[in-house]
This record gives sequence, C-alpha cells and structure tokens, in this order.
Amino acid sequence: MATEKKVKRVGKIDTPEEYEALIQRSLVVFKPDSVQRGIVGEILSRFERVGLKIVAAKMVNPDRDHYYTHYEKIGKMVTRRGEVAFNQNLDYMSSGPVLAMVFEGIEAVALIRKIVGPTEPKAADMGTVRGDYSHMSFGYADAKHIGIPNLLHASGDPDEAEQEIQHWFRPEEIQSYSALSEKFLR
Ligand code: GDP
Ligand code: MG
Repeated sequence: MATEKKVKRVGKIDTPEEYEALIQRSLVVFKPDSVQRGIVGEILSRFERVGLKIVAAKMVNPDRDHYYTHYEKIGKMVTRRGEVAFNQNLDYMSSGPVLAMVFEGIEAVALIRKIVGPTEPKAADMGTVRGDYSHMSFGYADAKHIGIPNLLHASGDPDEAEQEIQHWFRPEEIQSYSALSEKFLR
C-alpha cells in the first residue's frame, strides 16, 4: 500500500504578497574541488533543470578573513563542528578560486540543500550532487587533516542565506529579470 509522505507545508496563503514571500534567494558556492575537477557546468545544469533562476554569479578567490566571516560569524561553524574542522575547512576553501552564485526560486533554500545533499559525501544519497560526484567519509578526511571536499556550499536556512548574499555580493551585482519558464514554474 502506498503511504503518503508527510510534507511540511506553510500555512494557508491568500494574497499575492504572501505567496511572493515564499520566493527565496540562496547562495551557492562552487568550491575549489568542483572548479578544479572541471564539473561546474554539469552541476550547474541541475539547478537550472528544476527551474531555479540565476540572479548573480562571479568567480573569486576570497581571503581567510572573508571565509572567517562566512563560516564563523554567519555560519557559527566553530560551535557546531569544532576548531580543528573549522581551520581545515578554511585551508580547503583557500586552496583555489570558487564560483559564487545566487539562485532564486520558491522556497529555494531548502530545495537547494535537497539537491546538494548532506555534508558528508559518504552519507549523501545517489541523486544528490555530493552523493553523485564524491564519496569521502568524515573519518578519512579527519585522519588526513583536511576539510572534506564536498563540491558546493549552500545556505543552511533563509536567515543565513540573506546574511551570506550580503557578504558575497553588492546589491548592484544581483540582477532582476523575468525568466520565460516562470509561466509554468511560478
Ligand atoms: P555544510 O553546510 O553542509 O557545508 O556543512 P558545515 O557548514 O557544517 O561545514 C562547512 C564545511 O566544512 C563542510 O561543507 C565541509 O567541507 C567541512 N566540514 C564540516 N565538518 C567537518 C568535519 O567534521 N570534518 C571535516 N574533515 N570537514 C568538515
Ligand atoms: Mg553550512
């Protein structure tokens, strides 16, 4: 017998303002491993395929201060994962240029985390980016003293997304336009 999956829904929505408010923006960073492995295009197509709209993009090589703000001031990573993993992650992120992008879509923050998969590639399901393009375990990465290469950063929640987008992009770097697909996807 088919069982219906429990879906978490937002409350009843009546007005255009209320459903407009469900359109979110989220930061995605193609980390040094996706850039250096030459699989940015392949991965990017997954976000386009579900109808997410690209509203900002740039290739950058941020300094440690930038990543400190990103992962600790905004992401509280030391508290969550400890100082050792934090420093190893900063080394990993500083190992080459990254492509930073902002995507827009309906409840986009959670959608993008679903596409990306969980932090540890070993635990990530096939069909997620981290599960399809990597397989490393925390055990192996910790023993090797490296930040676990897992291809993408994606904002964890809508509040983190807002702070991260402000940290990575100036307002004029974020574009507003209507996509043809919106007729069916919005
Ligand atoms: P994310 O939101 O899934 O990217 O995970 P976090 O924000 O908790 O951590 C940031 C990044 O640090 C992760 O994407 C990993 O690359 C790395 N990282 C986090 N925790 C660990 C850990 O326990 N060991 C290692 N080696 N790397 C970690
Ligand atoms: Mg995170």
